[in-house]
Amino acid sequence: VVPDSFPGKVIPAGNGGNIVVTTLDSVINWGRSNSLWPLYFGTSCCAIEMMQTGAPKHDFSRFGFEVARPSARQADLIIIAGTIVNKMGPVLRRLYDQMAEPKYVIAMGACAISGGPFYYNTYSVIKGADHVIPVDVYVPGCPPRPEALLEGMIMLQKKIKTENMKQKINPIDGFDEGNI
Ligand code: SF4
Repeated sequence: VVPDSFPGKVIPAGNGGNIVVTTLDSVINWGRSNSLWPLYFGTSCCAIEMMQTGAPKHDFSRFGFEVARPSARQADLIIIAGTIVNKMGPVLRRLYDQMAEPKYVIAMGACAISGGPFYYNTYSVIKGADHVIPVDVYVPGCPPRPEALLEGMIMLQKKIKTENMKQKINPIDGFDEGNI
């Protein structure tokens, strides 16, 4: 039995069986996009909504995100939920560097996207996670509701499904460290 979501063509083989035609990229991407292991980088109020997204009502395990990891070395997704102050910048970068490729980043909430309410006249806040590491999906809001984070997660899955493993390179190479 081939699941409906499987990325390939099912061709009847004529003897009651089927032949499935697909590409290696599609199968790998299908598997990876449905089994992302997130590392939580929750620093302030948005983290409460992130936790709620994993609780029974919204339950992101339905989408394959249930294996939350406390160790960057076992995660392939980092969800940044909250304000990032200057002292946290190098820590965030180190955690990202410890994650194995291919890896992904979701910036949840106005603070993680741009510094949010602390954008102006705050000397201690980094004006967005993408000053430190590359971000794949931005989820706006202050804070975003769990439904918004779920939508961001689904967007990331769609992005992963279109990737070409040969072309995927480490985006951190050449990344400007001047802002850390
Ligand atoms: Fe708190 Fe709003 Fe910043 Fe989220 S975006 S961490 S809710 S101030």
